[in-house]
This record gives sequence, C-alpha cells and structure tokens, in this order.
Amino acid sequence: GGHLLEVRDLHVEFRTREGVARVINGVTYHLDAGETLAVLGESGSGKSVTAQAIMGILDTPPAYVRGGQILYQGRDLLTRPEEERRQIRGTEIAMIFQDALSALNPVFPVGWQIGESLRERAGMSRADARRRTIELMDLVRIPAAAKRLGDYPHQFSGGMRQRVMIAMALALDPKVLIADEPTTALDVTVQAQIMDLLADLRRDLGTALILITHDLGVVAGVADRIAVMYAGRIVEHADVHALYRAPAHPYTKGLLESIPRLDVRGQELSSIRGLPPNLMAIPSGCPFHPRCPYVQQVCVDEVPHDLVLGDGRTSACHFAQEVHDDSAG
Ligand code: SF4
Ligand code: MG
Repeated sequence: GGHLLEVRDLHVEFRTREGVARVINGVTYHLDAGETLAVLGESGSGKSVTAQAIMGILDTPPAYVRGGQILYQGRDLLTRPEEERRQIRGTEIAMIFQDALSALNPVFPVGWQIGESLRERAGMSRADARRRTIELMDLVRIPAAAKRLGDYPHQFSGGMRQRVMIAMALALDPKVLIADEPTTALDVTVQAQIMDLLADLRRDLGTALILITHDLGVVAGVADRIAVMYAGRIVEHADVHALYRAPAHPYTKGLLESIPRLDVRGQELSSIRGLPPNLMAIPSGCPFHPRCPYVQQVCVDEVPHDLVLGDGRTSACHFAQEVHDDSAG
C-alpha cells in the first residue's frame, strides 16, 4: 500500500538574475497516517521549500519545480487538475507558519477568521460555523473561547496567536498538518506548551504531522522519525531514538553535539565549523565535505548515495557505518 503523503525525487531551482540556485536536489520522504516526521536542517537547507512545494505556495517565478512527484494518497499534486489540487491542499493538508501575526489578517476578529473555511469551503451556516469555531478554540486551549471570538489578532499573545493559527489549520479536519518552525518566534516556556499541544492533537485527532525545525531540541518528545536536510538533500533519515542514540551522518552528529545539555555545567558547546553551502555553487561530491571532520578524497570526487543501515534508516555518507559505530562508542 502507498503512503498518505510521499515526496519523490523532488528537484526545485530558484532562477535569479545572479544564477540558478539548486535548492532541492532529489528529496524523497514519506508520511503515514497519524505519524510525526520531523524535517530538520539549517536555514537554506530546503526544508521549508519542500513544504511550500507540497502546499503549492512556491513563489513562481523564480521557483521552478524541475522534477519529481508529490503524491497525496497516490495522486500527484504536481500534475493533477488545478481544481483537485486545490481541494486536497485546502482540506486534506493544512499548514501553520512561524509567524502567526503575519499569517492572520489584522482587521478581522479571530473567530471570524477561524470560521472562514467552515463557511466558505464546508458550507456551514454562520451559527454552525460559530459553534464549531468555539469548539476549535477549546481544542487548542484558548481560555474563555466564546468571549474571545470577537477579539483581534493583536489582542492575543504570541503563543495564543499560534493557537489561533492551529485552530484555523484544523478547521476542516485535515489528515496532514505541516508546521514550519511553529515555535521559533516564541519564548522557551510557550514553545514547550505549543509542542505539547501539537503532540496531544496528533494523539487525539490522529492528524499526521510534518514538523519543520532547525532545532533538534524540540524534536525528541514529538517525532517518530527524522529526516535531516543539507543543501537540498536528505542526508540522514531514521527513527528518532535510533538517530539520537547513534547518528550515522557527520552532519547529524555535529548537530547533536551542538545541543546544550542541561545536565552538563560549563560545557564547551561544539558547533559545526564552516558555513552552509552556496546553492549556486554546491561543492563537488558530498556537499558537506568542506565542513566534515571525516572527509576523505572519495568525498570530494563522488556523490554519496543513501546507505541503508538496517531498520530502514539511511545515511548519504560514504562512511555511514563507520560514523554510526563511532557515535555508538
Ligand atoms: Fe563527510 Fe565524506 Fe560522509 Fe560527506 S561522504 S559526510 S564528506 S565522510
Ligand atoms: Mg524556513
């Protein structure tokens, strides 16, 4: 059987006056019903662009899908008729963004905005939409929902605005929710509350979640699997616990070593040397080679393909097994 959502060998370019940036270079990942996939990477790794391609919200021009497939229940969102694509993207797959304030309309009350898709797409009466809006606000734990329907976005705190956006996204009961850095703009306590909420929603509603983040620290309690992206590729893909126990790609290993540990005082925080690659001139061979402590000549000469390490985990590294064994100690 197929997966609920599957990205296959996706290639996306940005065509600018300065040249062509190859932002997505053969990304493949999948999501099954009810599970959470974390997509992890630095800014510019292509994690958001992949999500934008799924949602059909790439900026065109200059973004250009050069190849691949995005299958929702086996139907390719890149080639199905416009009407069908809009139906799937509006109701089956929903997305929430980092910046709730700019995603919400400042001049309409939040209750009205949450209810919009219920009225416009589900054809509910105003009264039914209002009732369902209050339920949704309760669901995302906005206190005194019925009293706050008429409030405007600026009257909510950052965390509460994020809850409003989650309520909007859940309005039509999507099977897939894509959350792009949903907590990055929030302080640490509120971050934890939003992550708890997402975990609870996933458990109670069975919504599958793609959690896009640059922060490995927020992934642990929520995700089933992680896909780590670098230079528009998935460099490692594994079960969360397997990956934490022993990363099999030097980039992931570097990310894990740069997480501050609360239990170690005065530690030296190691971070990955060097800078993310210029996507207009991606390094030869393994794109991570200029930054990699394990680099050998073969890494400069040959693109590493996915090495399967068992349990379905993969690492795009010529020395994946060695790195894994090294990490495992
Ligand atoms: Fe490092 Fe080579 Fe593996 Fe790339 S292929 S991550 S350069 S060891
Ligand atoms: Mg982003």
